[in-house]
Formats: sequence, structure tokens, C-alpha cells
Amino acid sequence: MATRVIPVDPFDLVVFGGTGDLARRKILPALYRRFCAGQIPKEANIIGAARTDFDEAGYRAFVRDAITELVPAVLCAGDAIAAFCNRVHYIKLDAREDDGWETLAQIINPDRIRAFYFSVRPELFADLAERLYRHGMASGETRIVVEKPFGHDLASACELNATLAHHFDETQIYRIDHYLGKETVQNLMAIRFANMLFEPLWNSQYVDHIQITVAETVGIAGRAEYYDRAGAMRDMMQNHMMQLLCLIAMEPPAKFEPGAVRDEKLKVIRALDDVAPEDIVRGQYDASSDKLGYLDDVGNANSTTESFIALKTGISNWRWAGTPFYLRTGKRLKARTSEIAVVFKDAPHSIFGADAGRHANILTIVLQPNEGIELGVTIKEPGPGGMRLIDVPLDMSFAETLGPEAELVPDAYERLIMDVIRGNQTLFMRGDEVEAAWRWTDPIIAQWQEKGEKPLRYESGSPGPEDALGLMYRDGRHWREIRE
Ligand code: NAD
Repeated sequence: MATRVIPVDPFDLVVFGGTGDLARRKILPALYRRFCAGQIPKEANIIGAARTDFDEAGYRAFVRDAITELVPAVLCAGDAIAAFCNRVHYIKLDAREDDGWETLAQIINPDRIRAFYFSVRPELFADLAERLYRHGMASGETRIVVEKPFGHDLASACELNATLAHHFDETQIYRIDHYLGKETVQNLMAIRFANMLFEPLWNSQYVDHIQITVAETVGIAGRAEYYDRAGAMRDMMQNHMMQLLCLIAMEPPAKFEPGAVRDEKLKVIRALDDVAPEDIVRGQYDASSDKLGYLDDVGNANSTTESFIALKTGISNWRWAGTPFYLRTGKRLKARTSEIAVVFKDAPHSIFGADAGRHANILTIVLQPNEGIELGVTIKEPGPGGMRLIDVPLDMSFAETLGPEAELVPDAYERLIMDVIRGNQTLFMRGDEVEAAWRWTDPIIAQWQEKGEKPLRYESGSPGPEDALGLMYRDGRHWREIRE
């Protein structure tokens, strides 16, 4: 099943932090894959910019190695990598010093689309914005792409928004959340807004509850310093999980366009209920036989930062009043999986009697590892001897539906970078959305900080602390199993 590719206009893309981990693992491979798909015109330039001492040949070798390691071999045949590398350039510069910036301004074509990807630590965002402006690169068809974390709390997010707004219009700012670029996340919108089947049922009258899980098996090694200042609430809940919640809960926008979609998402965030202390469970992973526990990973025996959080919230509007939303995310859990499960209510009356048991339809949107959508339906167990009911999945796994081509489905970064070039902000967060998300998050964090509360310990490879299970049990519900 070949995907249709519409080439974008010629562009210059500068990746600040072009020698960093994110550039190497995600941005450069994503650009290469779009190049192979024929979407990137041959006149486009990709310019890595960082402090590392590379000349052009050295950077091209770095790019080639990254692609060879991270892109499926089927896309690396022939001279495709060499052709791509011919479009790649490098410039050594420091966000905080003036050397190199004039050269950058000279190689950037002022008449084309110019995208500047801020793939550096957030403390440098303001310096980059300021220098781009000062060297005449902030006007016209300029876009800046800003990576998470977007602020540490409401005050810092407002400050960052104000700094960027000083030099750039909101229409030029692309705050990236790669979850929104995932194929299934967009499919979620297609399912909701292109089918009659689900939308009439998409409310508190028919939906019992919604649960969102983002479980990782990795710990925080390699990111300890950042993570211990952030924790699961800031690293995952405030941004990725909040965005998923918005898409699942928002009203239908009048059009699939940036203003309309982002307005609806913002309304959801503003309608989110405060979270009571008894509706939050925080945890820290313990050591396992071969890996350190959280406290050793961060080298701070007194750390009160959570590597796991589960919470229950609600949305106070007509559609969702009374429907609980359970969200959990954590490190070193049993399996790596991200999913949204919409659990529908039981049928109002069972004509099959008590033996048939309780059954509920569940629509599951799986974001990783195997993107796909599954609808659990109840059928009769085959065979004679009465009416026994079983739940079976109507399954649309991309890997199975698309076969070997599944690995060629554009990944989130491919789609989002091309959206930047096309000037489409629909899948990017607007400044007011980010601020609203922090406005909800800040008081929750303040609750446990004021009490100096320590997270509960949980076993590595488990589903998280026992109390997280209790969060749902006490409501007569249960989490779905964390499994790949
Ligand atoms: P990294 O430390 O691996 O790379 C940082 C890059 O910035 C390097 O190229 C370095 O040379 C450059 N740099 C550092 N100081 C500089 C300066 N003063 N002037 C110019 N360049 C400078 O970091 P990373 O993991 O690539 O992360 C980059 C950004 O992306 C961070 O904001 C991070 O939070 C965010 N992010 C990273 C990931 C990931 O998977 N790595 C995921 C999501 C978000």
C-alpha cells in the first residue's frame, strides 16, 4: 500500500544541537526517510549547527553513521545516503557567542522557507531566539521548532513564551510533542470524527471510564540530572499524556486546522478537575538483580522525585461530567507500552443471565510498541452447551495490516518536521495550551512538595506500586494489564 507523497517547497533547515542525541537518533533519520520518500526537494539544505568541532566531511560522516545504524537497511541501498549527505552542511557555533552567526545568516536563503530546530537544552532557547533575530533570520518564512521541556512550571513557561514572542509571532513557533505526530494519534481523530459509529457513544452516558498508560521498561540512566529535577509528572503527564487526554476528550473542531483543533484542546485542559491528594499515587523504582534503583541512578538518597505516577481526574463539562479519567506513567515497569483505553459501560441488562459474566466493549488505541487500534467485542463462545460469552478483539494492527511496509510508515518526527516546512501547526502545542497545562499541574506538584512526601517504592519490572492498583479497585474498576 504505497503512501502518497506531496513534495514540500525548497527549504533550509538548521538543526541547532545537530550533533546531539535527539538529532542523531530522531531528526536526521527522519529527514533521510522523507528524502527517500521523495518529499524533500533536491535544492533543500540541512545544516547542523553545534559547538562540536566538525568540518563538513566530518559531519556528513556522523550523519551517514546515524542513518546506517537507525534506518531500515532497505532504505539505505544504492547511493541514497550519499545523495542525502550532499544536502547536509555543518556550521560550528555557540548559542551564547557571536562567532559563526554571520556565516550562518549568509548561507541561509532569505527567499525560502527557513526552519530552525532548537534541539538543545532549554536554557539556550532564549539565546538562540535572540541571535536569530539580531542576525536578521527571524522574519518572513521563518519557523522555529522548540523541543520539550517547555518550562518547568507555569512561571517558567510564561517567561519562555514571552521571550520567544519578543522575536517571533505565535504562527512561527512550533512546540513539538512527538506523541501528536504518531500515526495512531491521528487515527484517533479519524476514528472519532470520520465515523458515525463512535461519536454518539463518546460521552459519560456510554463511557464508563478512560485509562491512559505510558509504561516504559527503561530507567532514567543517562538523563538522571534532568529527570530528578522533573519527575514523571513534569516529564510525561504535563505534556504527552495531557495531549492524549485532550484528543480523546475534545469536542469536534469545526475543521481539522490549527486554530480550531487547538481551541478545542485548550477547552479540555481548562475543564480538567483539580486532583485530590488521595487520587494520586507516586512511586520510585527499586533496584533489580542487574540494575540500580532510582535513588542510586540519580545519586541522591533523599530524592523525593517520582519515576511513576498514577492519578484520577475528571472533566467538568456536559460531555464528560461523571466519567473518571485514570492516567499512569512510569519507568522500569513490566513492559514498554503506551495505550489509551476507552472502556464502555456494561449493557444495561443481560438477557443471558449471571453465568454469562460481565462484559464491556473496550476501544484501545495502542501508540507503542505496535501502533494499532483494537475494539473488544463480546461474542458467543463457539460450541454447543449454552450461551457462554467471550471477549474477542477486532484488531487493526498496522504491522499486520500493512505487512512489511509497516516499518515504512512515517514516524512522528518525519510527519512533524514536514508539517513545520508546510507551515501546518495543527499538531503542535500553542503557547496558551502549554500554560494551561502547567496551571493544572503546578498545584498538584505543590501538594506533595508542601508535605515533603516521599514516593512509594515499587519493584522493577512490576506494574508500579500496589497503591496504584487500589486507585481503581476502590472504584470497582481495574487497570488493564501492562503488556507488549
Ligand atoms: P544532547 O546533550 O545530546 O545534545 C545537545 C546538543 O546541543 C549538542 O549538539 C551540543 O553540541 C549542542 N550544544 C550544547 N551547548 C551548546 C551551545 N552553547 N551552543 C550551541 N550548541 C550547543 O541533548 P539531546 O538529548 O539531543 O536533547 C536536545 C533537546 O531535546 C533538549 O531540550 C532535550 O530535553 C530535548 N529532547 C531530547 C530527547 C531525546 O530523546 N534525546 C527527547 C525529547 C526532547
